[in-house]
Amino acid sequence: MELRHRSEVATSASWRDDALCVEIGPSAFFPDKGQSSRTAKRVCAACTVQRQCLEFALTHEERFGVWGGLSERERRRAVPGR
Ligand code: SF4
Repeated sequence: MELRHRSEVATSASWRDDALCVEIGPSAFFPDKGQSSRTAKRVCAACTVQRQCLEFALTHEERFGVWGGLSERERRRAVPGR
């Protein structure tokens, strides 16, 4: 899977300008299977655009990585029927 940074993916979203993950890099947000997403979630918890990021991920059905503090599995659970 190609790692894409949120600033590259969400080029039309203004909230990306305040994305804290820009300073961290994408690898923590796309952990390999079995790896912890704890570091990414900790960054998300301190991010001022967490809500917007999560809404974007849910709207665009982002399947991979941590967005808005939620893993792929957690996002699926957040939206019944997915
Ligand atoms: S909530 Fe997390 S993934 Fe989303 S922009 Fe902020 S740091 Fe990045």
